[in-house]
Amino acid sequence: MNQERIEELAAQWQAICGQFSETDLSYSFEFIQQHVTVLVAEFYRQMMQEQEASYFLSDELVRSRLKNALQQWLLDSFAVPFKQDFKAIVAKQLKVGEVHARIGVPSWLIIRGIREIQRKSFVFFLQTPQADVLAAADYMTQVLSLAAEIMCRTYEAKVEIHNDMKHTYRLFSAMQDVAVQKDRQRGCLLDWENELMFKAFSDQSPLFHPPLSKSEFGLWFIHKAAYAFASAEQVEFIIQRIYQVDQLNQQLLDTSDQQQMLLLIQQIRCKNREIQHLVDQLFQVAEYIGTGNDSLTQLLNRRYLNTILIREIQFSRKNRSPLSLLAIDADFFKEINDRYGHAAGDLALQFMAEVLLESSKGSDYAFRVGGEEFLLLLVDSDWNRAQMIAETIRRRVEDTPIRSAEGESFKFTVSIGAVQYDGHPDYQRFLDAADAALYSAKNAGRNQVYLAK
Ligand code: GH3
Ligand code: MG
Ligand code: MG
Repeated sequence: MNQERIEELAAQWQAICGQFSETDLSYSFEFIQQHVTVLVAEFYRQMMQEQEASYFLSDELVRSRLKNALQQWLLDSFAVPFKQDFKAIVAKQLKVGEVHARIGVPSWLIIRGIREIQRKSFVFFLQTPQADVLAAADYMTQVLSLAAEIMCRTYEAKVEIHNDMKHTYRLFSAMQDVAVQKDRQRGCLLDWENELMFKAFSDQSPLFHPPLSKSEFGLWFIHKAAYAFASAEQVEFIIQRIYQVDQLNQQLLDTSDQQQMLLLIQQIRCKNREIQHLVDQLFQVAEYIGTGNDSLTQLLNRRYLNTILIREIQFSRKNRSPLSLLAIDADFFKEINDRYGHAAGDLALQFMAEVLLESSKGSDYAFRVGGEEFLLLLVDSDWNRAQMIAETIRRRVEDTPIRSAEGESFKFTVSIGAVQYDGHPDYQRFLDAADAALYSAKNAGRNQVYLAK
């Protein structure tokens, strides 16, 4: 939001305060101070009854943080006329709106909460037989409504950008991966099936084979392809079949009757052919376009980082699946450029991108977010996997010499910060935690993985 608009809103806030006497303003501030705990408690009690809200507030940590923040917000909003910092309070409302947008709390829910505060305030007002109560009520209603209005302004601006991004990302990811993923995922689906048959006929017991939904193909489809092709009718059919195959797979693991096993394998193969056919149809409508990815490494760039994080965080919260993030930065990279030239540095960065892709799966996301800084978002990935991948990347870079065009050979290292998603709906915290972990790895001497607890 531009400075001009902030000043305009600050003037509106000041004008509201100007309508009331010093006594009214003081009375209102004292009133808020006196009742803040009850007002906030009431706010949450009512909010928890809204289904959408209980999703955001399910976490005790979030709840206690938000309660404190809300109390402070109320106190600040009514302390304004005494501090005369109208621009600061407007900026604060904008910030709150921004956080809500990041978390995905809809704006009607904010207004719903404020309605509750107003309702409860009137309960208190009516118990107060004082003449100036009406002025205080008038003042409070105006301030709270203005605050809500300001929050909604940023909220809507952010959501609009987000939706726009989401749309372009869909298009982009539908196109971007096509060439690579088409063959890779066809192979993955076949591998899963071949391994299953091999196990079933080699008298292994007990027989174990992971569900298709957790195989590389299944994860890739559920996390990426389903989203990229969200509007296509095939997506729902494919997901249904993946879960049907999971059921057949489970029945196969549970039986020891050869005849029955043969029958189940035939059914699985048949379903898999249908899946393959539907996936081919999806790919046919997509064609390659090259935006949103980094031209040097072909990894994703920052553009879709937020969109993807929001989506994966929501998926993780909803399905209680683990999610990890690695922040990776080349060590002393300036020296590499200085000593071997920028072109050689570029080769090293391309090599880093290759290592990230080779060490992860098609369902994970690799970004180049800065010059020599990368992020690897590991979906459906627990701590062990994150740790293993981080260590693999670190070691491969350390061990592999890069050859410059001039024939010089050199090695370099990377530092990695690893974090596990903690359930907080604000993705910015997740990013900050990964950054902090990377910083710790650098501080501890570089060429190492720092695991944030
Ligand atoms: P540290 O271990 O603290 O990360 O040291 P560093 O030298 O890697 O850190 P710094 O962030 O100071 O420097 C990053 C360097 O990366 C600066 C720049 O010369 C180089 N760099 C950034 N983008 C590119 C690029 O696209 N190509 C090449 N060749 N070098 C790049
Ligand atoms: Mg660096
Ligand atoms: Mg750096």
